[in-house]
Amino acid sequence: MIPARTIATVSSATWLKSFVVVVCLVIISLEGWRDWSERRGELARVESTMATLARSLAQHAEDTFELADAVLVDLVDRATASEMTPARAVRLRDFLTERIKTLPRLKALAIYGRDGELRTSSLEVEPKDVNAAGQDFFEHHRNSKSHRWYFGPFIRDPLDGGWVLTLSRRFDEPGEEFGGVVVASIESRYFSDYYARFDVGKQGSLVLFTSGGILVARYPVKESAIGGNGSADPLFTRHLPQAPAGSYSYRSAVDGVERLSGYRRGDHFPVVVLAAAGREESLASWYQDFVYRIIAVTVLVATVASLGWGLARQLRRRDRAEAELSILAATDGLTGLANRRTFDSHLESEWLRAAREDTPLSLLLIDIDCFKAFNDAYGHQAGDHCLCSVAHVLKNAVRRPGDLVARYGGEEIVVLLPVTSAKGAARVAELIRSGVETLGMPHKHGTSAGVVTISIGTATLFPASEAISTGPKDLVAMADRALYDAKLDGRNRVAVAKAA
Ligand code: GH3
Ligand code: MG
Ligand code: MG
Repeated sequence: MIPARTIATVSSATWLKSFVVVVCLVIISLEGWRDWSERRGELARVESTMATLARSLAQHAEDTFELADAVLVDLVDRATASEMTPARAVRLRDFLTERIKTLPRLKALAIYGRDGELRTSSLEVEPKDVNAAGQDFFEHHRNSKSHRWYFGPFIRDPLDGGWVLTLSRRFDEPGEEFGGVVVASIESRYFSDYYARFDVGKQGSLVLFTSGGILVARYPVKESAIGGNGSADPLFTRHLPQAPAGSYSYRSAVDGVERLSGYRRGDHFPVVVLAAAGREESLASWYQDFVYRIIAVTVLVATVASLGWGLARQLRRRDRAEAELSILAATDGLTGLANRRTFDSHLESEWLRAAREDTPLSLLLIDIDCFKAFNDAYGHQAGDHCLCSVAHVLKNAVRRPGDLVARYGGEEIVVLLPVTSAKGAARVAELIRSGVETLGMPHKHGTSAGVVTISIGTATLFPASEAISTGPKDLVAMADRALYDAKLDGRNRVAVAKAA
């Protein structure tokens, strides 16, 4: 029997919901991807800025040392010229004092004699109090024949004890004997003051190291860090051995702040500059935009989702109403059987199928006996109830998937049995007839059995073999004639239509 149509489970509402979920996911992933790549771009931009800054500051440091060296070359000439008389020492000091005034990058210029004694300097210090013997730069020149500059370690100035970087050259006495050393010193503070002009934020820093890792100058100034050894830092252990310039990010062991940095080693002088900016600080404006965008995307997604869900709810209601309507349109309200319209279209399609597949098509036309009298005797409501009981018997008797039980009109019911021979149809008809009789619904007005009975006319055709003019209507007419015969024969029986 044809199953009652149920409401579709995968409805358009479900599709709409899935679509909305996909749209929301696409919006979220597109936004997430955009934010992520903007964040990456921002980090790359800061690293590149730091690398550029490190390059400029390394160049500045090298320019400073080149300038100091140019002055030293000149001093070597003057110091070598002849023996150092007191008058000559005074002249030289005046020269140094004047020269240093034009060179704000340098702290002091000094000339030391063969034994390390200070001969003269640009500072107001008593020469006899100062001796450079034992200082690294002095011992280097005393022990080496090289006339090249020497980049001294970061030391306390022998002249006044302040932190300085020294650049020195050896000069000879006539006869190529070691005559002494000329020294230019540059203060740590000169670099940190210069670095103060650059904005690297509250978490950023600019640091000048010797290539050995000694911290020479730092901005923001941190006195305790000056002179410290940073050679174990990843900058010296990992990055500088790989490339003289580059950028990397790291978490500071001192304050735990994550920083993005650029570094550069000097081309001619052994110095390294590190420029670093705080990662969090660098991402602050991106983060602010990110928060705004998250809010906007959340609002957008929530709006799309709630609109989608609302629409889906309405669609579901509409689907359900449509399904209910189509069930109502296809069924008979009283008995719950298929109605006449459904039967007509079903008969049409089954006829065509039977013609295609060359199978028999059978029809039972059922009519309650003396039903008018039943209504008259027991009332119309009892008649309706009786009709429903008969329908129930029919529904139970017909079980094959293609079979259809329909209310044909009034108290007449049809049963369409595809792929069923005349014999099979007669057997089903008899089953139905006896089933209704067995119900034992009392009917003492006209029926001989004393209970409600039915008469059935059955008809069977082979649509594939029938004449072209023969159609579904003929099958109904044959069943109707058989039913008429059954009534004439005394009711409560099955009559099989004879072939035309
Ligand atoms: P027969 O044995 O020759 O069939 O006699 P009958 O009285 O049943 O005659 P017929 O089939 O022509 O009777 C039709 C009657 O069925 C008319 C009407 O009173 C009754 N009827 C038709 N539809 C309904 C219905 O929906 N409810 C009820 N209660 N009665 C109906
Ligand atoms: Mg009738
Ligand atoms: Mg009747």
